[in-house]
Amino acid sequence: MQKNSPLEEWLASTALGGANQSYIEDLYEDYLRDPAGIEESWRKTFDSLPKSTAVEQPHSQIRSYFQQLARDSNSQSGASVIDPNVSKRLVKVLQWVNAHRNRGHLHANLDPLNLWQRLDAPTLDYKFFGFTDNDLDEVFDIGNYVYNRDKITLRDLAYALKNTYCSTIGLEFMHVNDLEARTWLQRKVENLLNKPLFSKDEQVKFLEELTAADGLERYLGAKFPGAKRFSLEGSDAFIPLMKEIIRHGARNGVKEIVMGMAHRGRLNMLVNVLGKKPAELFDEFAGKHQGNGTGDVKYHQGYSSDFMTDAGLVHLALAFNPSHLEIVSPVVSGSVRARQKRIGDDHFTKVLPITVHGDSAVIGQGVVQETLNMSSTRGYTVGGTIRIVINNQIGFTTSNTRDTRSTEYCTDIAKMIEAPVIHVNGDDPEAVAYAARMAVEYRTLFKRDIFIDLVSYRRHGHNEADEPLATQPVMYKLIKQHPTPRKVYADRLVAEGVITESKATELMNNYRDGLDRGDCVVPEWRPLDTQKMDWTSFLTQEWTPYNGKFDPQRFKDLARKVCEYPENHPIHPRVQKIYADRLLMANGEKLFDWGMAETMAYATLLDDGHHIRISGEDSGRGTFFHRLAVLHNMNERKAYIPLMNLHQGQGHFEVWDSVLSEEAVLAFEYGYATAAPKTLTIWEAQFGDFANGAQVVIDQFISSGEQKWGRMCGLVMLLPHGYEGKGPEHSSARLERYLQLCAQQNMQVCVPSTPAQIYHLLRRQMLRTVRRPLVVISPKSLLRHPLAVSTTEELVNGTFQNVIPEIDDLDPKQVKRVVFCAGKVYYDLLEQRRKNNQTDIAIIRIEQLYPYPHEEMRDILTAYSHVKDYVWCQEEPLNQGAWYCSQHNFVANLPADGKLRYVGRPASASPAVGYLALHNEQQKALVAEALAI
Ligand code: AMP
Repeated sequence: MQKNSPLEEWLASTALGGANQSYIEDLYEDYLRDPAGIEESWRKTFDSLPKSTAVEQPHSQIRSYFQQLARDSNSQSGASVIDPNVSKRLVKVLQWVNAHRNRGHLHANLDPLNLWQRLDAPTLDYKFFGFTDNDLDEVFDIGNYVYNRDKITLRDLAYALKNTYCSTIGLEFMHVNDLEARTWLQRKVENLLNKPLFSKDEQVKFLEELTAADGLERYLGAKFPGAKRFSLEGSDAFIPLMKEIIRHGARNGVKEIVMGMAHRGRLNMLVNVLGKKPAELFDEFAGKHQGNGTGDVKYHQGYSSDFMTDAGLVHLALAFNPSHLEIVSPVVSGSVRARQKRIGDDHFTKVLPITVHGDSAVIGQGVVQETLNMSSTRGYTVGGTIRIVINNQIGFTTSNTRDTRSTEYCTDIAKMIEAPVIHVNGDDPEAVAYAARMAVEYRTLFKRDIFIDLVSYRRHGHNEADEPLATQPVMYKLIKQHPTPRKVYADRLVAEGVITESKATELMNNYRDGLDRGDCVVPEWRPLDTQKMDWTSFLTQEWTPYNGKFDPQRFKDLARKVCEYPENHPIHPRVQKIYADRLLMANGEKLFDWGMAETMAYATLLDDGHHIRISGEDSGRGTFFHRLAVLHNMNERKAYIPLMNLHQGQGHFEVWDSVLSEEAVLAFEYGYATAAPKTLTIWEAQFGDFANGAQVVIDQFISSGEQKWGRMCGLVMLLPHGYEGKGPEHSSARLERYLQLCAQQNMQVCVPSTPAQIYHLLRRQMLRTVRRPLVVISPKSLLRHPLAVSTTEELVNGTFQNVIPEIDDLDPKQVKRVVFCAGKVYYDLLEQRRKNNQTDIAIIRIEQLYPYPHEEMRDILTAYSHVKDYVWCQEEPLNQGAWYCSQHNFVANLPADGKLRYVGRPASASPAVGYLALHNEQQKALVAEALAI
């Protein structure tokens, strides 16, 4: 608003001036967006405004309106339209109401221990606005502003506001910019005075569920004293919270829920929500449990079951989880997205994700930010996640909020995506259940994330062998005296006459008897419907054979089809040229390059009805301009994807440019792949070394998930790699790290060197029935190398070669040395050998470094059984690349007197040198040494 405008002058002279001016303007903007969302008397006032330009220029509109009002009031010789004194007081009352909406949560009764030192919020006191206790009986006509009451005394309003905004629920929602969502939240709490209303049966159910939460921990504590169980005690309301979300989710159409949580309270969740048999858990405590693979500790285990509600059956899946806090959230998102796709849940109503966080971790771990940032993006949205923070106000031994975070709330990270936060006192299970329902409804309506901050405490140490009094003496003295959530609620229900003391005791005894019997203690539990399992045909442990053949005519038709795009869809000349070249390849007039071969791998799979999902930074185009799966219209914001337009009935194809994250995106794709065995799921790193940022996912899930948890995963990782003089970063995909993780046939590490090889490698990954991760050390310069080309015949009639023998017509008997290598260096060696006219050195490419192809290698080496001189040649420094991890494989098939030696760069702290001249010198030297006899 302009300074000294007539409106400003007028407002300054009336009760509506000064600080109220912007308030009225805001109110007017709210009115323009949603007239029903504002108080009636203001609505009537604004209704009388002319509407023509109101939407575009609310401020100028309101200015002229008030200018007119000023003129009117002047011309009416002192007769005021609005009594300045009354309006002034009314505006102050309304400001006070708004203060509660904004800051009421700061004074909400959230902490069961009452230890939390809250920020001061003086505007929550009517005295801040100039009222005194003498004004408490003054009546204000506030229209429908709050609680559907138009006239209310200051006293009643104070009571209502306190109960709405400062009770055991503190709703933080004014940062939600979407007016509809914000108004919905406001109405939700204000209409009911934020007072949850539950039937007697429901109250008893909550007590029963608290009794179960409490009873299990006590039982385990007594039976296995000192054993680690990461007890839920103090946050017991988590169990009724979860069950209420399931029940209310079902009422809102949910059929499947995928949950991710760390170790705290996990055993309780397994037994009291998912229905794991206590006897099974006791066996695990006793060290008796024997499963397949290498296993994992009990508080990392996932579980699947079905849960019966009044509104039908809900499938529950708890994701397996490593100790890395927070990493499971994006895994859950990926798994949910895959399930939504599988059942065609395009409106996100049937599959609900829930992630559970710790208070220190949710704000401490960067992956949470990455996950939230993905939450509404096209390729990764799941229509909102309910995020629960088990806020026990301590992380291991650190509880001082001056150490744990730089924000008031641990949930302040939610604000980056404008997710509302329901803070709730963990000692009030009814408020907790109410929060559960509100979260479900919000997510159902607005398809966005919402947080529940379950403010509670941790009754014991970080684990049961820990002594928390040493570091948190004040907190733990209080906790020792504080009654359990079960007792608090049982006493309340007894006092309210809902149950008798003996009923409360009976509930405890019944639960303990159930544990003694060892059978499932969840009445809603139902056995898993195995018909729904998608995995039955993919559980083979053996590497099944791959038949690479594809009908040549169909192949040709498809190859032409992937080069087509609408005439009225102009594309960039450079892309046009690449597509024109691809058409030549399709017509057999040019050899296949990498981009076209990769595209044909997808096209042939899609043609057979398989699904494909590719995601990563800039995957639509490809870092090196080679994929070009998405054709951007040069004139409009439109894109055309030929692979989505092959024919009706083809498999789904999706390619997504991801948010600029590796950890969360790779975890998402891992989650996707573990829930979608019929989709070839590919994550591509922009440069191979970027995967460093996702090391947790590689270590904790991709390389070890099958052995730890029996979860298969056919995820493909494309990692551009190659020493091309571009410096320490982006030269190396750190092949050595993947090889070091290889054991027990856990994954495949391949270095394809031709277009036909990438074509078959991708097809093989889908067509074999085994689902294990595939790490592809993919090229950069080979994408356009004149020798890295393939014939149509190699594609349609070839196969993936784990080892490629010498390709030149050498007489094996003349060969004095065999050089093994992998990747781009092969072409450097080949070109130099040809230049040298050497015929005494054979070059063998090892295209699959793990599982190592011993059989194929033995066959190939029979022709060289006379050779004693063997070389492994690599571009990477001695301490990197394949040498250290794979030399035992390289020597395994040599003749008894054969000797293997290393040729490559010297050991180096950095992956590559930064000076181009030095790089060239090194590269020349290693090629020369490999070929020097
Ligand atoms: P879920 O839908 O995740 O609850 O899984 C249901 C069942 O499918 C599980 O109990 C497993 O038997 C099986 N299953 C799910 N995912 C996988 C996987 N990635 N690998 C192997 N089996 C799986």
